[in-house]
Amino acid sequence: MHKVIIIGCGGVGTVVAHKCAQNPDVFGEIVIASRNKAKCDAVAKAIGSPNITTDQVDADSVPELVELFRKHKPELVINVALPYQDLTIMDACLECGVNYLDTANYEPKDVAHFEYSWQWAYRKRFEDAGLTAILGCGFDPGVSGVFTAYAAKHYFKEMEYLDIVDCNAGNHGKAFATNFNPEINIREITQNGRYYQDGKWVTTGPLEIHTELTYPNIGPRDSYLLYHEELESLVLNYPSIKRARFWMTFGQEYLTHLRVIQDIGMARIDEIEYNGQKIVPLQFLKAVLPNPQDLGANYHGETSIGCRISGTGKDGKPLTYYIYNNCSHEEAYKETGMQAVSYTTGVPAMTGAMMFLTGKWQMPGVHNVEEFDPDPFLAELAKQGLPWHEIINEPLEVDKI
Ligand code: NDP
Repeated sequence: MHKVIIIGCGGVGTVVAHKCAQNPDVFGEIVIASRNKAKCDAVAKAIGSPNITTDQVDADSVPELVELFRKHKPELVINVALPYQDLTIMDACLECGVNYLDTANYEPKDVAHFEYSWQWAYRKRFEDAGLTAILGCGFDPGVSGVFTAYAAKHYFKEMEYLDIVDCNAGNHGKAFATNFNPEINIREITQNGRYYQDGKWVTTGPLEIHTELTYPNIGPRDSYLLYHEELESLVLNYPSIKRARFWMTFGQEYLTHLRVIQDIGMARIDEIEYNGQKIVPLQFLKAVLPNPQDLGANYHGETSIGCRISGTGKDGKPLTYYIYNNCSHEEAYKETGMQAVSYTTGVPAMTGAMMFLTGKWQMPGVHNVEEFDPDPFLAELAKQGLPWHEIINEPLEVDKI
């Protein structure tokens, strides 16, 4: 019987809790802990499994985390709080001998900048402690890396061009809302774009490069080039890659709101003085925007996320390969009360945790998901609600851009 602690009880944490509870043979005991215990209690009550308990923790505090881990003695912590807490949680894991999994790389609160160096710096300490840390195990990062590993293992002698394509064709009926934590989401997409080409990183203006891409069962959608964290590890782990890019769809209405938010200074992440109090405009904005957890009830349509890869196949011939999952917002909501963006993050996080607990993904050190065997993960992912599909030797569109 294995015991896990889920830290964070937002949209993603709620899905992780549901999915762990659906697999009691692996997840014998589940603790959900967050800053706000009442939220965890409500999720535990909605799930109604006897093996879930809840607790309160401020995950910015290593001593509080250490106390939590000593009290519950989990084998693994599933970190689905915010990227700001990654390092404190990793520190506490080292202090208490707990394994670690997350879905987003560390970001300092005061600079909108994400890269793996901070977490990769923990490699030796995790290795020496005999502990496994699995980084970036949501959908993207997460399944996007596992899809790439699967393509490398089964299809390609050399992968040359990788395009990760992320489409949300859902409609939640609100004028403006983000699908996951608004603060993290807006920080991510207002940054410069960046992609990898011939051994170098090329920087673009924010959302400067865009094109229409066609998504299965959805059709054509405007897709924008963003920097996304998994590109950093994938180009290192697959050095034959000549170009790696990440694309995400946005509607015009969303982009207009985003532009206004930026123009009026509401996307600022520095502190300002307001009525004798210091506030961060983006954090204030988060407080007035719709809560991503509440979008599910009226959300229609699908997400479609996948990898489009070209290069040389195992047989030495040119090969194009597209592997993707489509996920319905309605189905995700029926099962977990959350929309598909939370669902497509939470299901892989639970699946990665299951891989660790069943001994399939155990490797002391700090690792990105593509370093593990993709086969058992993808087999399980399909059973757990995210089936995936492959298209071989069809045009990929991305080679024209
Ligand atoms: P939410 O804002 O809905 O939830 C975040 C949760 O973290 C809340 O329960 C919040 O608690 C908790 N939290 C925040 N700060 C602390 C703290 N100091 N101590 C303890 N708990 C804290 O975010 P999401 O569920 O949408 O996202 C969760 C994570 O998933 C994020 O890191 C996000 O970047 C990542 N993500 C990854 C994706 C992927 O595909 N890889 C896609 C989407 C998201 P409270 O409300 O009580 O303050």
